[in-house]
This record gives sequence, structure tokens and C-alpha cells, in this order.
Amino acid sequence: NLLEKVYQTNSLTKVEIIYLLENITPEDREILYSHALKTKQKYYGNKVFLRGLIEFSNICRQDCLYCGIRASNAKVERYRLTPGEILGCCDIGYDLGYRTFVLQSGEDLWYTAEILGALIQEIKKRYPEVAITLSIGERRVETYQSLFASGADRFLMRHETASKDLYEKLHPTMHFEDRQACLSTLKDIGYQVGAGFMVGLPGQTFADLAEDLRYLSEISPDMIGIGPFIPHSETPLGTEKGGTLEDTLVMVALARLLIPGSLIPATTALGTLNPQGRELALKAGANVLMPIITPTSVRKQYALYENKICGDDKPEDCRYCIERRIQAAGFEMDLGRGDSWQFSS
Ligand code: SAM
Repeated sequence: NLLEKVYQTNSLTKVEIIYLLENITPEDREILYSHALKTKQKYYGNKVFLRGLIEFSNICRQDCLYCGIRASNAKVERYRLTPGEILGCCDIGYDLGYRTFVLQSGEDLWYTAEILGALIQEIKKRYPEVAITLSIGERRVETYQSLFASGADRFLMRHETASKDLYEKLHPTMHFEDRQACLSTLKDIGYQVGAGFMVGLPGQTFADLAEDLRYLSEISPDMIGIGPFIPHSETPLGTEKGGTLEDTLVMVALARLLIPGSLIPATTALGTLNPQGRELALKAGANVLMPIITPTSVRKQYALYENKICGDDKPEDCRYCIERRIQAAGFEMDLGRGDSWQFSS
């Protein structure tokens, strides 16, 4: 009944979500995925949007317990791409057909509002039709405003977990309220905003996951990134168990049903967990893929978790691999900007 309810009404209470997560059977999961796929098709047809991902710096001032590029990990070889190198990645990405660039990094304050603003303006001057997505973590309100004024369109900032206790345990250098305040500021400024969370974090309960979905329903983001937690041995959580494929797919499907017009990537972390993880996510309601265009020379240094896929690949390898995967899974690649349904309507 809950499966039909969420399909028909795009809503469930937190208590209902917890009940569903506690009692879901393999057969229920298949029904859930099929409802999520039909809902995705209602809003976006069979299209899968591509985003060219540029991981431009692995230097980070934060110390998130799960993350391989946390400040305390002295074993990472750190790198920073210059604005010229980032522009070079955009040139390659543009030629490969991408019309959204995601600029992602650790929280690296070397990239001031001025440096990033000039970079964004130059990208927009060269390629006026592209969308620029930033994923650079927490900054001052004025910085978010000036980057938006420079031409940034979207901002990804996963809320990571919507449970305060769990959030504070995992983020010794950050505050729960700040993260959520950033998301609401970004939305007020006019960005298309992406939130999201990890599945299978140590100590995470079904109630925590239900709270993630409740929070997402409340803020109704344009984009929702959901991926499994994957342990990294050089972090304090290195010996913990990671999230599972099934649990992550269930959360992707529920996110599609509860926030039906959102853009949901089939994440690289899911592709790392299982060779078919991204295809399964597309069949469970995801509609975005983020092929990497980071230069091959530094890719392996952006190791948020271990065994991350595509480390030796070149941008063109990822482009054609992704195209083949989309087609083999029965979907259509769309190289447009791919704005969210709620933003476009
Ligand atoms: N610094 C920016 C921020 O905080 O939004 C963007 C970069 S951050 C490294 C990108 C995302 O990586 C995080 O939001 C987190 O969910 C994910 N991540 C980090 N470590 C991970 C791990 N061990 N397993 C899975 N995902 C991880």
C-alpha cells in the first residue's frame, strides 16, 4: 500500500518511510524501482543528461571523517589546477559535447571569489550556452552572490545527513546548521540547488535515512546526489562497512518518487561499488551521469574513497563509455544543458 501511495501521491510521512525501509522485500524493491522509472519518464522521458565533471583541487580545509581528501590525510598528494588548466578542461569538454560543467573541489580558499568569478566569466564568454555548476563547499554569502553574478547557474552541496547528531560526529570542523543555511542561501540567491546524502554511513539508522528524505521533500532541491558511503583506509572510518547497492538504489527510487521533478545523478560511487551500479540507478529513477573530464595526470589524487573508477581514463574514454552504457541500458543521451523540471516550468 505504501508503494502505491508514494507512486500516486509523491508523498509519505517519515513514519511511513521508516516502516517501508524496515519491511521492504526484494519483490517490493522491484515494484519501487519500476514506479520510480515511470515517474522519471513522466517528467523527463527516456533522457539522461550528461555533466562534464572537473575536479580542480583536492586541497581541503575541512576534516570530514569519511573523506579521503580530508585535511588530516597527509598521504594524499595535493594538486590545484590553474584557471588556465580548468579552461583547458572546459575546451575539451565542450568539444566532447558537454553543455554543463561541474567545477568541484575540496574547500580550497586559494580560489577566491575574484579568481573563480573571472574563470566563470571566461567560460561563459567562450561558451555562452553552457551551464556552470559549482561544488566548492561552504563560503560566505557575499562569495555565493558574486559567483552567481559572474554567471554560475547551479550549486551542488550535499547536506550529507539531515540528522544533527550524526552530522556533528562526522564533521568535526563543521556545523549542521551552517550546511543547511548555505543551501537555503544558495536557493534564495537564485542558484539551481543540489542537496543529497550518503547511504550506509557508520551509525546511520533507517530513521536517519527517512529524515534525509523528509528534509529533501521540504526543501525540494533541483538536484539530488545520493551515493553509498565507501570507506577510505586513510580516514578514521577506514575499517567501517560501506553502504550497499540495494540500500542506495532504494533511496534513489524514493527520492525520485518524493521529489519527482528533480535531477538525480547515477553516481560514480555507485559505479565503483558495482560495475552495473549506474545503469541500475538509471532504472531506479536517476537521470543524470557525470563523466569525468579532470586531466588523467591528477585523477587518482581526487580519491574521496578507494578504487574510484575511471582513474586511468582520458576524458574521451569516459564520454564514449558513458554513451554506450546509456544506450545499452535502453535510455537516450541528451547533451543539452538539462535544467531541472521545476526550473524550466
Ligand atoms: N567540498 C565540496 C563539498 O563539501 O560540497 C565538494 C567536494 S566533496 C569531496 C563531494 C562529495 O563527496 C561529498 O558531498 C560527499 O558526499 C562525497 N564523499 C566524500 N567522501 C566519500 C566517501 N568516502 N564515500 C562516498 N562519498 C564520499
